[in-house]
Amino acid sequence: MDTLKVNKRLIMTPGPVSVDPRVSQAMSNSILGQFDYEFVNIMNETMSLIRQSFLTENKWAFPIDGTSRAGLEAVISNIVKPGDEVLVPVIGRFGYLFTELVTRAGGIVHNIHKPMGEVFDQAEIIEALDEYKPKVLAIVHGETSTGRLQPIDQLGRACKERGIFSVVDAVATYQGMVIPVDEWELDAVVGGAQKCLSIPSGITPITFNERFSEEINKRKRVELGIRSNESTEKEHFISSNYLDLTQLQDYWSPKRLNHHTESTTSVYALYTGLKLALSEGIEARAKRHSYHQEALKTALKALGLEIYGDESNEMKMVICVKIPEGIDDNAFRNGLLQNYGVEIAGSFGDLQGQIWRIGIMGYGVQKQNILTFLSIFSTYLVSHDSQQHLNVAESIKTLLDYYEQNEI
Ligand SMILES: *Cc1c(COP(=O)(O)O)cnc(C)c1O
Repeated sequence: MDTLKVNKRLIMTPGPVSVDPRVSQAMSNSILGQFDYEFVNIMNETMSLIRQSFLTENKWAFPIDGTSRAGLEAVISNIVKPGDEVLVPVIGRFGYLFTELVTRAGGIVHNIHKPMGEVFDQAEIIEALDEYKPKVLAIVHGETSTGRLQPIDQLGRACKERGIFSVVDAVATYQGMVIPVDEWELDAVVGGAQKCLSIPSGITPITFNERFSEEINKRKRVELGIRSNESTEKEHFISSNYLDLTQLQDYWSPKRLNHHTESTTSVYALYTGLKLALSEGIEARAKRHSYHQEALKTALKALGLEIYGDESNEMKMVICVKIPEGIDDNAFRNGLLQNYGVEIAGSFGDLQGQIWRIGIMGYGVQKQNILTFLSIFSTYLVSHDSQQHLNVAESIKTLLDYYEQNEI
């Protein structure tokens, strides 16, 4: 039988990204039973690591088995019951994902918009909270589709003062910058795996506080077959079974009430990824991301490319560049991948064909990789550029100078 053969890649997209070999190694450990005392210890330690990663004292910090979208859907489908009103500020594609999830949960969405490439002033969002008086604010922290960082540090408190629940998509920013969940008084936050944490996709760390827990438990329904005698029938019970956070609470606590069969290999990956991230230190990790982002951005400018969007609100985990005129987005990216094993991303909606997104995420964010990327990308780009205004030598020199002149 032929074994699986996967070619070497340099992934420079906003996820999935390459993983530390120690994560892959951890995943090759033996499977443990989901109630094995050894696995239960790993579960408890993983919860503690998730708490540390979110800088929170929340009791509830556990992973959802599924990609980040499952984490977002879990949080939304538990806190939003039919008829509940939700404010969703939109600055790009992932704001629409929240809109979609709320709508499917039967909620009523109030969208506020900014033109692509911009972010909200927090005061504008707070004003909209006062105008719409929603039950929930659902907001994206790092909007990967446009590369914008939405400031949110004032929003948790503003929500709390108004009795509103704050829900944050921190999928792309998690472990690429510091997100102090308690200090920012956020009620529920969803992180990501295959972005800056740099583990395979399929598991999603989330956290939520007691206030949020109390609210979703008003809709708790223990499933048939494992229910004790007392009835838990509620009028607006949580309709999702797999993503029912209240049943997951029973699984991720000493009750250990059977729910799904936990993916032990994914938990090994999460555990190891978090250990690595926390031993590097979240602040140091954030610095590493912004240091290399600045390095590559400076070099891409020297190459002659135009950076998309205002640098004052850029995410440090992704660089958005305008696609030079005359270059076909898909053909170029496919060629780069097929010929050189280097992957970058396009974007969505109005930005499709307009910008490329170059991910600066996780384990692969190292000097050597950035230099290799720039060399291949710039050379290949020049070979496709009929206008010949790009300068590869200048760009590589700029990168080397940056690394020589700037400490991390
Ligand atoms: C990647 C991403 C998601 C979706 O994550 P999946 O793991 O693909 O489900 C959601 N929100 C943001 C901001 C993202 O960058």
